[in-house]
Amino acid sequence: MIPARYGASRFPGKLMQDLGGKPVIVRTYEAAKATNLFDEVYIVTDSDVIFTEIELHGGKAIMSKKDHDCGSDRIAEAVENMDVDIVVNVQGDEPFTSKEGLEQVLSVFEGEDADKIDLASLMTEMHDWKEISDPNSVKVIVNKENFALYFSRSPIPYPRDKNADVQYYKHKGIYAFRKQALMDFYHLPMRTLEAAEKIECIRYLEYGKNIKMAISNTQGIEIDTPEDLIRANKALKEDKDISVNNKYRNFPMVPKVVFGKGCFDQLSSILAPQRKNKAPFIFLVDDAFENDHPLIDRINIRFNDKLLFVSVKEEPTTVQVDQIVKDIKSEFNYKPSGIIGIGGGSILDLAKAVSIMLTNKGSAADYQGWDLVKKKAVYHVGIPTISGTGAEVSRTTVLSGPERKLGINSDYTPFDQVILDPDLTIGVPKNQWFFTGMDCFIHCVESLNGTFLNAFSESYGEKAYDLCNEIFLSDDLSEVDSRGKLMMASWHGGMSIAYSQVGIAHAMSYGISYVLGTKHGVGNCIVFDHLGDYYPEGVALFKKMVEKYQIEIPQGICKDCTDKEIDIMIDIALSLVPLWENALGEEWESVMTREKLKGMYLKM
Ligand code: NAD
Ligand code: ZN
Repeated sequence: MIPARYGASRFPGKLMQDLGGKPVIVRTYEAAKATNLFDEVYIVTDSDVIFTEIELHGGKAIMSKKDHDCGSDRIAEAVENMDVDIVVNVQGDEPFTSKEGLEQVLSVFEGEDADKIDLASLMTEMHDWKEISDPNSVKVIVNKENFALYFSRSPIPYPRDKNADVQYYKHKGIYAFRKQALMDFYHLPMRTLEAAEKIECIRYLEYGKNIKMAISNTQGIEIDTPEDLIRANKALKEDKDISVNNKYRNFPMVPKVVFGKGCFDQLSSILAPQRKNKAPFIFLVDDAFENDHPLIDRINIRFNDKLLFVSVKEEPTTVQVDQIVKDIKSEFNYKPSGIIGIGGGSILDLAKAVSIMLTNKGSAADYQGWDLVKKKAVYHVGIPTISGTGAEVSRTTVLSGPERKLGINSDYTPFDQVILDPDLTIGVPKNQWFFTGMDCFIHCVESLNGTFLNAFSESYGEKAYDLCNEIFLSDDLSEVDSRGKLMMASWHGGMSIAYSQVGIAHAMSYGISYVLGTKHGVGNCIVFDHLGDYYPEGVALFKKMVEKYQIEIPQGICKDCTDKEIDIMIDIALSLVPLWENALGEEWESVMTREKLKGMYLKM
């Protein structure tokens, strides 16, 4: 619940001030929603203006009485008749509310002393004496179990002994209440300490309630003054999506990988130590291998292991992932020992998504985006049978969902184990080999020409780019070498995106795939063919490759699209903000307008 009073005393109307193109309160609402931690998120407000604004942005708002003393009273009124366990109060003026902080606050209800806790709140370390002595920042002191002893606008404790080793903590206005504690509060009159300090949570202490404090050290910006708003707008500009384009990415890598002709035969010995009692391994296998393919005999199915052939005629969808997970759950009482994906990018992505959804509730669609997955996936292994996508090494699994085509990009997505056996790619039809290989080439071009590029990405991207040139343009490479090299190019191409991003071809290709069902690799080639203005060198090489292998790149696929279809393509493409920012820089919106995109699509 986000209490939102229009007339804040120190900065009236602050919640409706503009923050990067949206009102502060809308930003806060979206941030709370994006954490995916809550079953429901509501704004509770006394203001028609705020109410309308939230509904306009597709959010949920509740009107409350005007005359509440504080935010807690306001949300108490709203939840009085709701059936809820824990109510979290997020301050309306904290648009940068971090997921980590909210998680910390909620996690105290899972600790040993959970029974004793009436409510939980958050604190963060303070080091600057100027801030410590500023009455606008509320300080808190705690006992050794982190239960709050007192809150004050004065520095507490008073540092009579300047050498005492004291850590000061600032109180952050996020609360998680058991519903009963909130209702009690609502009906208890204010006492003098609260009245004097004007700090509402003192009321709980005055009535003997237990407040457990969680610690978070991610600093947001509260909007208390017009200066804060200027700072916040600046921060937003520097770092549009704080979780996506963060400067330093603590990127998970695939911890185990085996490479070489014939290494597929190690699969059984690799899996053996991961087997848990009666829990089966589930093999998701591309149905290209269904009819008596020798590969299948080499998979050593044991006990109740299950082989599931999957068609990749259409690229993976959230619905398909949910169905596979449902089937596995209804067939087995045990959570599988592992998911093994054997196939191209589509199967690898399915395997990643299924392993995530076996431990996370809800639908795969709930996790499309950056860092939304909460729980570790079950053990999962990727075994590519075509090379180029980099799906075997990347941190994402690309899915078409009800609203968008977007990856589940999380620390839990990458495989625990990858098996790179170049022989498995024997038999891939030439066209398919080319389109998937070009995915790798295009990844490299987009990454190497992007504004996000750094030495980390460059080192992988350049290697993959050179390998692609050798594979697709040199005349003296044996087929065996070519297969091995493409497998490594794919790996490096995938890694090169770790610190960077893809660009225009991918953004536009996602739009085409979503509307027309065009395959990823084909869509990329259709778009890339027309991007000479943006990637001149890469596109020139690409055209040479197309000619050498006499590949037909589909033409004119958008020219008969309706306006509505083109509009959807544009929406999907433009929603991929990090891709555009990588390609065209911070001011991309002024370069890539809807009109311009429409013109480009109609030519493709
Ligand atoms: P794919 O998995 O869709 O397979 C393409 C075709 O090749 C299918 O018909 C398949 O049956 C066939 N095939 C696969 N292996 C074969 C073999 N050894 N012999 C004969 N036929 C074989 O194609 P892809 O290009 O590898 O993957 C595309 C998918 O990867 C898209 O869904 C895309 O979104 C995804 N992708 C993911 C990432 C990521 O980082 N997760 C990156 C890029 C692309
Ligand atoms: Zn791609």
